[in-house]
Amino acid sequence: MARVNNWQIGREMSYWYPESRPQKQFAAIFDVNKCIACQTCTLACKTTWTSGKGQEYMLWNNVESKPYGFYPLAWDVNILSKLGPQSWKDGKYEGQTIFESAPAGERVLGWRPDELDYAHPNVGEDDCAGAMIENGAALAVPHMSWFYYLARICNHCTYPACLASCPRGSIYKRPEDGIVLVDQGRCRGYQECVKACPYKKVFYNPMTGTSEKCIACFPKMEQGLQPQCFVNCIGKIRMAGYISTPDKANPENPIDYLVHIKKVALPLFPQFGLEPNVYYIPPVHAPANYLMQMFGPGAWDAIRTYESAKDDADLAGLMGLFGCSEQVLPRWKRVNDSVIGLDEKGKELVRVPLREPMHVRAAFDPKYGVQRTNCP
Ligand code: SF4
Ligand code: SF4
Repeated sequence: MARVNNWQIGREMSYWYPESRPQKQFAAIFDVNKCIACQTCTLACKTTWTSGKGQEYMLWNNVESKPYGFYPLAWDVNILSKLGPQSWKDGKYEGQTIFESAPAGERVLGWRPDELDYAHPNVGEDDCAGAMIENGAALAVPHMSWFYYLARICNHCTYPACLASCPRGSIYKRPEDGIVLVDQGRCRGYQECVKACPYKKVFYNPMTGTSEKCIACFPKMEQGLQPQCFVNCIGKIRMAGYISTPDKANPENPIDYLVHIKKVALPLFPQFGLEPNVYYIPPVHAPANYLMQMFGPGAWDAIRTYESAKDDADLAGLMGLFGCSEQVLPRWKRVNDSVIGLDEKGKELVRVPLREPMHVRAAFDPKYGVQRTNCP
């Protein structure tokens, strides 16, 4: 095992291979507060990449209702209970990662789901957690119940467990953009990656005898275009781009700004140790303890920062760039009441007003002689 630096857990850790960061690292931000679980992203991915034989059950992108939704069943609670206590102190993770707690003779602490664990992709949909106090009047039930929608793709981790576990060396991380891929020619279907990925984002195809996974729509990313699940997102919750390490954070890069400067977007289960590269703005209405387990100790501060966006024109403006363009926006800036997405050379790609103008239509349209529905 090599010693590598994992900034998300604030310390060095053990990993199967030495640290080797790509020239650029694919990354994404999902604003959980805006997801409506319409599953358009899921279908956009399904129709693009997984409509073939043996792929029927594969959801490279899925959206689950937390805390009772899972795909596959219990993916997170299973690995959390195997991992045991996970404590943090002053931003440093004091427990063990899934690499450090691997059983003797294995590279990663993992588990392989049963076939039936994939049988119910929408299990737990819209199920609430929290107390419902019976007081005889349904309308008087206090707002103590909660759930939220968690959209998930492969995290294109800096330290992928799938890659570490593969005895054939069939999984690789592209040096040019950090996207993690399975070499279909090398893979022999041992499914060690399925067992190792704690997010369960590698899927075995019984028709081809190989494992398959999200490819971050690399043919689009190579052309400067965001993946299918991003551009089709109805809630405009997503932004794709590239992230720097914290020491090289560039405030002009929207991903760096939200992750490193504002610290409003956080990794999913950083304590697993993979340095995942999909970052989430946590939901404002869920309990702090639950969010801190899922997104790390910064969850509560992230929510406070998110809520302050109403008084922060830069933060609010940047949030307006989510879902506004198919193009990847490597740079951004705010000029007065506009937020502008730029390419690497500073050329304007898209411009969004800080506040959407409101137009009130007259109740009667004399041109067409019709009464509109928005009558005063
Ligand atoms: S999320 Fe899973 S499949 Fe994706 S890179 Fe990380 S370990 Fe591999
Ligand atoms: S398309 Fe967007 S809003 Fe709809 S479920 Fe997917 S992530 Fe959520």
